[in-house]
Amino acid sequence: MHSPAPPARSIAAYETLTDRRLLERLATLAATLEDVRVLHVNSAASGGGVAELLRSIVPVCTDLGVDTDWLVIDAEESFFEVTKALHNGLQGDATTLTDEMKATYRAVTERNAATIDEAYDLVVLHDPQPLGMVEPLMETMPDTTIVWRCHLDLSAPASEPLAFVSNYMEHVDHAIFSRAAYETTVPVPSSSVIHPSIDPLAAKNEALDDATVAAESEQLAPISFDTPLVTQVSRFDPWKDQLGTLEAYRRLTDRIPDAQLALVGSMADDDPEGGERHEQVAATAATDPDVHVLTDLSDTAVNVLQRQSDVVVQKSLREGFGLVVSEALWKRTPVVGSTVGGIPLQIEDGRNGYLVEPDDVVGLSRRVEQLLRNDVRRLEFGQYGREVVRERFLLPRQLAEFLTVVADLVS
Ligand code: UDP
Repeated sequence: MHSPAPPARSIAAYETLTDRRLLERLATLAATLEDVRVLHVNSAASGGGVAELLRSIVPVCTDLGVDTDWLVIDAEESFFEVTKALHNGLQGDATTLTDEMKATYRAVTERNAATIDEAYDLVVLHDPQPLGMVEPLMETMPDTTIVWRCHLDLSAPASEPLAFVSNYMEHVDHAIFSRAAYETTVPVPSSSVIHPSIDPLAAKNEALDDATVAAESEQLAPISFDTPLVTQVSRFDPWKDQLGTLEAYRRLTDRIPDAQLALVGSMADDDPEGGERHEQVAATAATDPDVHVLTDLSDTAVNVLQRQSDVVVQKSLREGFGLVVSEALWKRTPVVGSTVGGIPLQIEDGRNGYLVEPDDVVGLSRRVEQLLRNDVRRLEFGQYGREVVRERFLLPRQLAEFLTVVADLVS
């Protein structure tokens, strides 16, 4: 396994953005954990929401005085093909895993578990990729508490993949889900719910001065910030339904011909489907000069696009939480999103954006049109969106809930 090196973070830097009592609670919790060693394991150092979360949680915990490490699984493509099938299956695809796929999963997770040579009080395995490490870890670290942190949309898992991962889940001490509805679908001994959060101080979300916005905006040419701009930021993944977004956009241009669409996507290290899906989306969009399919933008460029877009959309078919929704709302950009997974936790329909059924491209294009035609509503939705995120979806709140769970489990 390898250990990413996220930039250092100091909890003191969050003072102006966080209620004082929450910061005090964090300090108290951290003090009770000063002898506790925590390890997070996931399968990608960058790309996607889990890496995004760990890049902030790990250094802030360290700054708080909780000894926290982060390791990323080393694996070959064949492993990630298995884990992407598992990911898709747990989100509802009728996937079948062959015996060979199961053997690959076991071999790689066991091999990675064997490389952990330090002692930890609590290990957090993120998503299905490292979950197979649970049994080898129980042997080598019998006193360690093992937590499964599931970031997926578990509202309707397919039975075979669920049965496969259930064999592992039964052995963890505790599971953490992003939404209460997911708790009931899986057999874990105990569980809790923690809504994820964004880091307001990360390059993706920090305040930017006008000069930086202007310089980055210029780099984003031929996108124009003087004509209506609609953006979706997502990994290239069928669940994110960029093709549905394109369809909604095409309907929109019947009524607002100069509207532009930016489809921004990264290739996560652990997602072998990304390249193919990107090609498909780019090919479908190729005939339209006002659709911009962009990959591998810097965090600051994503920040500028989320900030400068008139409307952000998130037309997911499944969504564990959907950090991108809070990222846009934090920048005062209203979001039109599907009624799936964690999106309705963040969008209050008619207050900071709109919710539409996941297959409703007509509804999506109408809601986007309404927002594009109404400057006052966009402004009001944007202001309220910022407050919703400030209240509920910033890092210190998530961290306090996580450390509370850790304290309960190790006490
Ligand atoms: N992201 C990014 N660049 C991209 C696409 C995605 O930085 O081109 C980031 C995005 O800003 C967010 C994360 O990847 O922080 C995606 O998290 P989310 O919870 O929305 O979805 P996931 O990828 O975990 O399914």
